[in-house]
Amino acid sequence: MVETQSALNVALEQLDIAAEKLNLDPGIHELLEHPKRSLLVSIVIKMDDGDTCVFTGCRVQHNDARGPFKGGLRYHPNVTLAEVSALSMWMTWKCAVADIPYGGAKGGVCCNPKQMSANELERLTRRYVTLISDIIGPYRDVPAPDVYTDAQIMAWIMDTYSQLKGYSVPECVTGKPLSLGGSEGRTEATSLGVDLCAREAAKIRGLKLKGAAVAVQGFGNVGWNAAKIAHDMGCKVVAVSDTSGGICCKQGLDPYKVHAHKSKTGSVVNFKACENVTNEELLEVKCDILIPAAMENQITKKNADKIKARIVVEGANGPTTPEADRILHEKGVFLVPDILANSGGVTTSYFEWVQNLTREHWTVEEVNRKLENKIVKAFNDVHKIAKQEDNDMRLAALMLGVGRVTEAIKTLGLWP
Ligand code: NAD
Repeated sequence: MVETQSALNVALEQLDIAAEKLNLDPGIHELLEHPKRSLLVSIVIKMDDGDTCVFTGCRVQHNDARGPFKGGLRYHPNVTLAEVSALSMWMTWKCAVADIPYGGAKGGVCCNPKQMSANELERLTRRYVTLISDIIGPYRDVPAPDVYTDAQIMAWIMDTYSQLKGYSVPECVTGKPLSLGGSEGRTEATSLGVDLCAREAAKIRGLKLKGAAVAVQGFGNVGWNAAKIAHDMGCKVVAVSDTSGGICCKQGLDPYKVHAHKSKTGSVVNFKACENVTNEELLEVKCDILIPAAMENQITKKNADKIKARIVVEGANGPTTPEADRILHEKGVFLVPDILANSGGVTTSYFEWVQNLTREHWTVEEVNRKLENKIVKAFNDVHKIAKQEDNDMRLAALMLGVGRVTEAIKTLGLWP
């Protein structure tokens, strides 16, 4: 695993800012800087050509004062322990902001899933689960999908964990296929939450959602569904991108057709009647709402000043650095931070867990109604603090999240 500190530095700096505002006890501040547990594993598998390969993986459990650890699993060639630690810390704040009874965790495996067969991915996933099985479980730590992991991988996690236990444990993982106890609405949940936050932000900024120009970076689960739902809500999607680059069309593009084009060609680029742009250019296109939905550290002090959107809604985790936050705030950009904006995913994961524990299956209408109630409440809670503090939504969300976790830690006390 190559170590890069940037995402972790961002997460720690954000914690420092919130700690200062909350006048946090230095002992609690120090406790929150460190994950409760980090497990590093070497995943040995047979490749299809008969070779044996070793992949490095980890599971980082940041804090469980408010409930079992919860967090996604990422498969990516640039995964590092530092990055996963940052993501686990953000999960702690996110679950607290969404007010769901979970702590924060994250997992990662350093691999390139685009170059691996389905059989190799299955062997990798099952071996990884056996290596971390002692520290996960429905009341300990519940994984979910993240970058380059999907419902099929969640199904293998469920099956491996269940085989080890000797009985079926669907509540050990969320983001499963519907046929195995997955929740209606889970695939789109993160993006629905993102677009609901965009709607609430638009109300505050007096922006009409109908016809509002939207640009989306990343066209995976979060980006594609965010573009689709924004389009269905009446917005005009003007630009989208993936790892190969982006496309832009001032008149608006049809995300459904772009999705079909990507399924056929492997990328969104070279879509008819659109101009090809780079991922850097996409962030700077003229639009009302920008949705970064790819990776960390995309909006930095280098490009923050060039962002033309009036509203930024963070579908991705950690796309904006603290320096960029300050620049955007000074420019008057309304930014809905990741720990609020993309909390729809973990909120519907929580609904999936509740449905599994009670062996119920809710309708998509029920799931989405509950999700809307939760995320609009969280948005209003954060916005109230932002107004009180006369500061941005990032600081407000961090104050809310860190504050709620601190209260739980203090009430529980320290034992042994
Ligand atoms: P995904 O694997 O489905 O898609 C990732 C997308 O990002 C792909 O389209 C890929 O081409 C693109 N991408 C990767 N690197 C890029 C780059 N440098 N520039 C532009 N595009 C790039 O992953 P996802 O689940 O959609 O996750 C995207 C982001 O959303 C991540 O930050 C993830 O942590 C966050 N997130 C996901 C969920 C969820 O429910 N899946 C929930 C909350 C947050």
